[in-house]
Amino acid sequence: MQPKQPIAPKYLTGVLPDLMNCGRPQPGAVAHLEVYHDDDCRIWKGRACSCEPDTRLVLIDSKNSQ
Ligand SMILES: [Zn+2]
Repeated sequence: MQPKQPIAPKYLTGVLPDLMNCGRPQPGAVAHLEVYHDDDCRIWKGRACSCEPDTRLVLIDSKNSQ
């Protein structure tokens, strides 16, 4: 029996192109994805996301941020 694969949340498919366009990670650079779920989203009860959250991709280059 195959182990059950986790299912990626729907909202990730919308940001995957942006993530892919980040290019190859560079030393000292970090990218993180901020996800803003609705107040009534089921994720706050430990279940799968039930809303359509706003997302924002944040790129941080520690070499150029000072
Ligand atoms: Zn949600």
